[in-house]
Amino acid sequence: MINATKRKRVIAYLLLLVFSCYLAGAAGLSAHFIDVGQGDAILVCTPNGSTLLIDAGPRVAGSTVVEYLKKLGIHEIDVVVATHPHEDHIGGFPAVFESFSVDRVYFTDHEHTTKTYERFLDAVNASGAYRVRAVAGKTIDIDPEVQIEILSPLDKRYRDLNHSSVVLRLTYGKTAFLFTGDMEVLNENELLAEKVAVGADVLKVAHHGSSTSSSMVFLEQVSPTVAVIMCGSGNSYGHPHREVLDRLESLHVEVLRTDLLGTVVIESNGMELTFRSKSGS
Ligand SMILES: [Zn+2]
Repeated sequence: MINATKRKRVIAYLLLLVFSCYLAGAAGLSAHFIDVGQGDAILVCTPNGSTLLIDAGPRVAGSTVVEYLKKLGIHEIDVVVATHPHEDHIGGFPAVFESFSVDRVYFTDHEHTTKTYERFLDAVNASGAYRVRAVAGKTIDIDPEVQIEILSPLDKRYRDLNHSSVVLRLTYGKTAFLFTGDMEVLNENELLAEKVAVGADVLKVAHHGSSTSSSMVFLEQVSPTVAVIMCGSGNSYGHPHREVLDRLESLHVEVLRTDLLGTVVIESNGMELTFRSKSGS
């Protein structure tokens, strides 16, 4: 039996958790495409107040991600997904693990030889978070109203780390999101060959809008209403590539770019989507 004071404290804590969720996104589910310059960091807040962080941007943006989450009143992260070991995706994780308790971490068994990857592993190990191998076919359960399926990578070795990217399809009510990391045409073709359901209203465009991803046939299958491109303004790769922008335009997809808009927030009430940008530029 817990006494009345303790019970009050527990209730206050639960209310705080629920309030964090409302701060994070009043309309059911919210996806925050955080402006980290050239890199990915996406926070998803689900209707029951759970949090999912997909990538944490480059090392220099670690504090940006931490501050963004703190401003939303977030104290702990339920699930972290590291899509693949490149610096522009995992460099910010050590700062995140230092600042928040994390329950579960999903990442693949594709390793890298860099100091950045070592630091990422050290941070994961020090956090005590439960480690889960990310591979196609698994689901991530954080909210009974939200389904999250891992579509890629398949259970095989990929030579290019981009190809090992964790790809997630999230559905909430009638709305769906596809988070693609830096997957490339090779992965898109694998998904199409396996006839995996890739349809989504919101597409996080793979690999910062590089033309090595986002083939026309794949975009047609996804058939998004909105495409989010995460890249840094004036980046040295020329992302997003003209070909990808042209393909999206020909399919009448609304394109939201973090290099032009800053952080982009898309909310779903299970039926409809609304979006806003945070820089106001
Ligand atoms: Zn990248």
